[in-house]
Amino acid sequence: MISDLPESETRDVVIIGGGPAGSVAGAYLARAGMRPLLLEKEKFPRFVIGESLLPYGNDILKELGVWPELEKAGFIKKYGADFSTGFTERFNRYWFRQALDAGYEHTFQVDRAAFDDILLRNARQSGCEVVESAHVTALAHSAKDMISLSYDGPNGRTSLTTSWLVDASGRNGIAGRFLDIPKYPTRQMKMVAIYSHFQGVHRNSGDAAGHTVIVRFKSGWSWLIPLADGKTSVGIVIPADTLREAQGDLKSVFDHHVSSHPDLAERMSRAEGLMPLRATADYSWRFKSFASGRVLLTGDAAGFVDPIFSSGVMLAMKSARLAANTILAARNRQTGLDSGECRQYTAEVAGWMHLYSRIIRSFYERAGFEIFMHPLPYFKIPRSIGYLVGGRMDLPAAQRLRLAVFSVLCALQRFFNLAPPIRSLR
Ligand SMILES: Cc1cc2nc3c(=O)[nH]c(=O)nc-3n(C[C@H](O)[C@H](O)[C@H](O)COP(=O)(O)OP(=O)(O)OC[C@H]3O[C@@H](n4cnc5c(N)ncnc54)[C@H](O)[C@@H]3O)c2cc1C
Repeated sequence: MISDLPESETRDVVIIGGGPAGSVAGAYLARAGMRPLLLEKEKFPRFVIGESLLPYGNDILKELGVWPELEKAGFIKKYGADFSTGFTERFNRYWFRQALDAGYEHTFQVDRAAFDDILLRNARQSGCEVVESAHVTALAHSAKDMISLSYDGPNGRTSLTTSWLVDASGRNGIAGRFLDIPKYPTRQMKMVAIYSHFQGVHRNSGDAAGHTVIVRFKSGWSWLIPLADGKTSVGIVIPADTLREAQGDLKSVFDHHVSSHPDLAERMSRAEGLMPLRATADYSWRFKSFASGRVLLTGDAAGFVDPIFSSGVMLAMKSARLAANTILAARNRQTGLDSGECRQYTAEVAGWMHLYSRIIRSFYERAGFEIFMHPLPYFKIPRSIGYLVGGRMDLPAAQRLRLAVFSVLCALQRFFNLAPPIRSLR
């Protein structure tokens, strides 16, 4: 990062990144009368992984008016999610209509290139200025409590200053690095995801055809997300060491995991890859704080939550709406956020992440997964887990208590077989 940028134009708010977080922040800020400038380094539509939405993210899509467009876009309707072991030894199906409140019966499995493009256009239509192919390369503090930045864009290098900065640059986390905010892992084991889109993957029947299917391995898991036009997004998530030991050979590692788990092998028996396999390091981390003065971190730029529960897009949109509201509440003053306001923003977003991190930890531990797959119905725990599978984060006290009981049961399962053991994981 350089700190002696020439200063030219002045903006009231700049957003870095045009993924779900950036577009949602841009739309809310523009609708409230600000003049946001969104800088996105790619030209949309662009490929990105992470296609499965959660119903409790629907509210924002409806508020922004994109829901009718999503309905027309031909995306597959998602009514729930299936969890299994690769040996069909244990199987759990969540239907949103059974677990969630009325109005959240379904959401969509989306092609992210198309979905992100719809959101970016919505930001533009809301009054947010969007520049694509604009790569932010430098940030600096500037005079009068402002932020300077420069980007390489369609007209070469441009520099400007801004009163507010929303970082929505995804896992690049450009502002967190610029501010030197400490970063720490939220799960110790480093994982890697290997994935592609396939044609010909066997699907469930009826409404369950649109379910996300999660298959748990002894160490790791895989996803199958049905998309439009007969496409399915399929990926495996495994310890990074496993790929290293295979000298980075994506295909051999992917094929090995598919063929050695009969449930997955059967679904993939006639699958044909539509693009080369890709790999993404998938370890979970977060910055210690998500706000400082005039800078707010949103979505993956604040922290990355393991994608097992498909929470990423919803967390990105919710944190972006909260960031926009935080700026709007403070926009007329001469100063940035005070430390209390920064703490409040961080605590709210970190609280959402923590809710998922806790259940994700259980999913990764053998004992926790055994309880997850057999969650002792008399405590009504399945309903509380169902809320998280659907993306509800403002859980009433009773539901939070049940999740705490769930954690205790997971701990006890290490010593006593409260739930039947799953042989393939032992
Ligand atoms: C393997 C895997 C599977 C996943 N599966 C799911 C899933 O099923 N469901 C789900 O909800 N989530 C899933 N996720 C997570 C989800 O993809 C992210 O949480 C989500 O995309 C975050 O949105 P965002 O807007 O914060 O960041 P992004 O979507 O990453 O957008 C950031 C944008 O910023 C731009 N940018 C970056 N740096 C700069 C720069 N310097 N200048 C200008 N622009 C810049 C990028 O080009 C990008 O367009 C998955 C993630 C992984 C890795």
